[in-house]
Amino acid sequence: MPIRQLPDHLVNQIAAGEVVERPASVVKELVENSLDSGAHAISIDVIAGGQKLIRVRDDGAGIPKDEIVLALSRHATSKIASLEDLEAVVSLGFRGEALPSIASVARMTIVSRHGDGAWQVEADNGRLGELAPAAHPIGTTVEVNDLFYNTPARKKFLRTERTEFSHIDKWIRRLALARPDVAFSVSHNRHVTLNLKAATDDASRLQRIGKICGEVFASQAMLIDGAAEMIAISGWIGLPTFNRSQADMQFWFVNGRSVSDKTLTHAARHAYRDVLFHGRYPAYVLHVSMDPSMVDANAHPAKLEVRFRDGRMVHGFVSQAIEHCLRETRPGGHDVDAAPVSLLRGQVIRQSTMSLPSGYAGSSAVAEAIGAYQALAAKPMTETGLPESATTPPLGFAIAQLAGVYILAENANGVVVVDMHAAHERIVYEKLKKSFSNKKITRQPLLVPTTVSVSEAEASLAEESGDMFEQLGLGITRSGPSSLLIREVPAMLKQGNAEALLRDVISDLMESGTSNRIEETCHEILATMACHHSLRANRAMTLPEMNALLREMEITDRADQCNHGRPTWTSISLAELDRLFLRGQ
Ligand code: ADP
Ligand code: MG
Repeated sequence: MPIRQLPDHLVNQIAAGEVVERPASVVKELVENSLDSGAHAISIDVIAGGQKLIRVRDDGAGIPKDEIVLALSRHATSKIASLEDLEAVVSLGFRGEALPSIASVARMTIVSRHGDGAWQVEADNGRLGELAPAAHPIGTTVEVNDLFYNTPARKKFLRTERTEFSHIDKWIRRLALARPDVAFSVSHNRHVTLNLKAATDDASRLQRIGKICGEVFASQAMLIDGAAEMIAISGWIGLPTFNRSQADMQFWFVNGRSVSDKTLTHAARHAYRDVLFHGRYPAYVLHVSMDPSMVDANAHPAKLEVRFRDGRMVHGFVSQAIEHCLRETRPGGHDVDAAPVSLLRGQVIRQSTMSLPSGYAGSSAVAEAIGAYQALAAKPMTETGLPESATTPPLGFAIAQLAGVYILAENANGVVVVDMHAAHERIVYEKLKKSFSNKKITRQPLLVPTTVSVSEAEASLAEESGDMFEQLGLGITRSGPSSLLIREVPAMLKQGNAEALLRDVISDLMESGTSNRIEETCHEILATMACHHSLRANRAMTLPEMNALLREMEITDRADQCNHGRPTWTSISLAELDRLFLRGQ
């Protein structure tokens, strides 16, 4: 076959293969156009899972009469004009591909009004109709009929109406989370399926989240808001005790664009690392914003992925911001009704009776950590009482020990039950971590340096990341084009397999531009120590000892859950007790 220039219509149909995967992609592209046009309200009507009809109507700026036809031609966009514009792009679209691609695989009508008078144009199988006057308020309606009617091979890939609509619904929910300030109404087969008012403050934004992610999430989510010089994060993160069996409630928005991104997901996973029950996933709705020049939005035809110029910075910032928020998950930490911890001063109570890791045969780093902890715990605790006429502390005061396992206490709201082992485990663990992080990682030279063969790309990456390896306590040198020599390892990990560790760190680096593996592995060891050296069941405790534990919990970060993510305490309010006993009814 001779080389030939493909006709425009075919080029558009080929491009549609990337942009229009299924009806949901049409909805996504059209709604994004509406958002880009500055719409305050968007309504979406769908018939037969989007195969019969998709209609998106907005009250945005509209398209000028002489640009409506142009909007349907390939690579025609009003959003960028130069490479500089592309590098600073803040609109959701910019490739000028969506409308011509969709029009090439469906029958499309655009009606729009920008200034005086509304105009309409129809497109069918690559042929454009005449521009004709129409009736429409300022804004745009795009109607897409009979999707894939002229590409039967693609139509075969469509699933049932219900499945296709569920994909549409998923996208609309994402877009609605991305832009809480815009009202959305959605119908399928003429039944309203979603109706969201514009949200302008935190309370109504949380309400929208409740409608999309469920009320249970909304009632157990913490507001997060943080900013550094070049980057900011805001949104809601679920309490560790609200978790999922799948990563299905994790929403990321980068400069308003819904994305799935490994760096971000990993940063969140890292932040939740020791507050989540094994194998469970956190839930969150998070908006990250940064200078548009720091993120490449043009990394994917449907723009589902982005590329960060400095992935390590983004990872560090995001995980620290979430971690910071999670630290507050301690009794009284985010419960506005409980007494603030700063009130808990004055009364001198007995020294805590924690059983300490004694004679633990670990490395010198472990010994140092333990030493620091023993010194800390040997000091009498003085700051944990209450000033005279002050409110009860969040966990109240101990009344008794139950079954040798639980502490029963009473606070201002009712009854509190604490799992003493779980709580103590967290307290010991947090102390071990703190004293460990205050030290630099101690290194241990290997008696026989280990040679590891890797790919050339991996060797170069390891060489470039020399500083990071230094910080992690891994001494490596490149010993050939595709080999690395491990000379030193963190003392705490000297028993482990140095080669496997290095390979894991390199693959982390390849995947997310950063590695927390060494810190995580060290923390795992500390967690095991904490578990083995915490209060055991059936250890009789006096009331002052129990109170000491409660006061320690109130000042320990993340004390609401043990190191494995199990809750450390629960409460029953007087109102709940009254209900149980049918009081006042
Ligand atoms: P892109 O969004 O990448 O620019 P599209 O093919 O999606 O490309 O749209 C082409 C152009 O049509 C847009 O740049 C915009 O000027 C115009 N347009 C499309 N939809 C709308 C709308 N709902 N409101 C206003 N203008 C629109
Ligand atoms: Mg677009």
